[in-house]
Amino acid sequence: MTDHRPPHATLPATAHAPALELPAIGQGTWYMGEGLVPRSDEVRALQQGLELGLTLIDTAEMYADGGAEEVVGEALVGRRDQAFLVSKVYPWNAGRDSAMAACERSLKRLGTDHLDLYLLHWPGSIPLEETLETFERLREQGKIRRYGVSNFDVDELETLNALPDGSECAVNQVLYHLGSRGIEYALRPLMQRLGMPLMAYCPLAQAGQLRQDLFGHPVVREVADELGITPAQLLLAWTIRPLNGRRDVIAIPKAVQPQHVEQNAAALQVDLSDEALARLDEAFPAPGRKVPLDIV
Ligand code: NDP
Repeated sequence: MTDHRPPHATLPATAHAPALELPAIGQGTWYMGEGLVPRSDEVRALQQGLELGLTLIDTAEMYADGGAEEVVGEALVGRRDQAFLVSKVYPWNAGRDSAMAACERSLKRLGTDHLDLYLLHWPGSIPLEETLETFERLREQGKIRRYGVSNFDVDELETLNALPDGSECAVNQVLYHLGSRGIEYALRPLMQRLGMPLMAYCPLAQAGQLRQDLFGHPVVREVADELGITPAQLLLAWTIRPLNGRRDVIAIPKAVQPQHVEQNAAALQVDLSDEALARLDEAFPAPGRKVPLDIV
């Protein structure tokens, strides 16, 4: 039977939570809450995204020093149950007491009593065992439903997976876009072997040091024009494409402009042919060797 649902990725069942399907495109929040645009625009954008099915919202205590979490909290007033809410803890706050306190602060700013997913933002110097034990405590207390990591490369993920609760980690969130395919050589295959979905940040390559003008690339423009979609939609559809027959990516573009939110949601309906993918592969080849993990 044909599956007519929009593309989704499945978080595998853990010892404490059943498997869960999430739409393959969610919403990022980096640079929200900084006062760069009216806060009401950011709130409205997140609500618009929720209405269009972009139900995963990704934030972090780092973004605008908690300001992004406050924007998300405002957007979720009266609709918390519509969202799958992800936040992240600084590595230096990921200790036995510090992570408990950091999580409490995040919950307060977000105006909720639980996170659906709590991530270690990047590897740090606090022993991973301690962070995992603390995530487990937060889970037992109902403050988080699942936990995971971000910016973990192959070695770090292997170390994590060998720890007692390592296999409970739900996702690894890393930078991934058409112009940055390094993870396809070793990290993504490892994650597929572990059954761990990938959350792809900077899927539009539009922010941070790795900003690239993929929108203006001639092959991107040509393929997008032929499909009648925008370059951004092409990049999103490419990011969430199945690999080895499996859909296991959730892209988290950040968008404030209403037409951007609308386009990003519509990208869930874009089907890329093998021929389109081959042309993109030729212009942006997959890596032939291990390269260090790209980060912002
Ligand atoms: P993105 O690749 O999502 O790019 C965001 C930019 O693209 C914004 O300027 C936005 O404009 C623009 N944009 C969004 N949609 C469209 C569209 N359809 N057409 C044209 N332009 C568009 O970069 P981010 O760095 O924000 O990454 C996404 C999210 O990933 C972050 O917000 C954050 O939640 C997460 N992240 C996680 C990191 C980690 O270390 N774990 C690191 C970096 C990001 P506008 O807002 O004006 O609509």
